[in-house]
Amino acid sequence: FLPHLVASMEQVEETYIMVKPDGVQRGLVGEIISRFEKKGFKLIGLKLFQCPQDLAEEHYIDLKAKSFYPKLIDYITSGPVVCMAWEGIGVVASARKLIGSTNPLQAEPGTIRGDLAVQTGRNVVHGSDSPENGKREIALWFGEGEICEWTPAQAPWLRE
Ligand code: GDP
Ligand code: MG
Repeated sequence: FLPHLVASMEQVEETYIMVKPDGVQRGLVGEIISRFEKKGFKLIGLKLFQCPQDLAEEHYIDLKAKSFYPKLIDYITSGPVVCMAWEGIGVVASARKLIGSTNPLQAEPGTIRGDLAVQTGRNVVHGSDSPENGKREIALWFGEGEICEWTPAQAPWLRE
């Protein structure tokens, strides 16, 4: 077992995180951003945005056949959302853990959904489910020039 080789194989990933309209309406934007910020991931994109119908449909294209799809599109377009892109090693899976299960009643306490929501149809936040979808969704929600390359001052204090 060679820890330095394992470390060198760790991939920098990007994930698309979104505060859904209920999270914005309920005043949870700061709380939700704070969870990812405090964990130590790097914010590379952020905006408040009214999602148009066609973008909502494209974002949730994989769920088009589901019975709840029309309600889901209504929900996501019902008010402004906060779009975020976060970068880090292992950020996709880690963000899903921070977010918790899709059904907030089954989400562990300590997770965003476990602490802040009670129903699947109002589960306050979205997170990409794979590195590929992270890239796809960031490209979908952000335009060119909206993603920032920068080095946080805390970088040397997060990783040895
Ligand atoms: P996620 O990756 O945990 O967000 O879950 P999915 O990708 O399976 O579903 C996307 C979103 O669709 C969820 O976050 C919910 O907002 C919504 N959704 C999923 N399942 C249901 C359902 O059974 N009923 C309703 N009303 N919404 C659902
Ligand atoms: Mg999903």
